[in-house]
Amino acid sequence: MSPDMAKVLIVEDNPANMTLATFLLQSAGYEVLSATDAESGVAMARDRQPSLILMDIQLPGMDGLQATALLKADEATRAIPVIALTALAMKGDEERIRAAGCDGYIAKPLAYKAFLATVSAQLGKTLV
Ligand code: MN
Repeated sequence: MSPDMAKVLIVEDNPANMTLATFLLQSAGYEVLSATDAESGVAMARDRQPSLILMDIQLPGMDGLQATALLKADEATRAIPVIALTALAMKGDEERIRAAGCDGYIAKPLAYKAFLATVSAQLGKTLV
């Protein structure tokens, strides 16, 4: 699968982060789907079957870790890799992120090259 066929769902409530992540992904040729809260993100994942989900942790209402746990418990979405977008930097967070079922994480603020490298590496892994 070439990058221009990959659909990436971003679940992020911060408009600046959403704009930046969308711009970077579209520039790299990905199709971008977006949701600003966990509930609509989970529904969109079921409906649209993205190749990858980028999940903010701190969201209004249900948080990103709860949403990831739901996605991973659902037959319809469990195979979709989820990368957490996290501003959290405390020790133990990586463990919480993995325990929720995330396949990896990216620290915010987003570092452009590392961000795209992580996305592309995760999509490559999915296709093996
Ligand atoms: Mn947030």
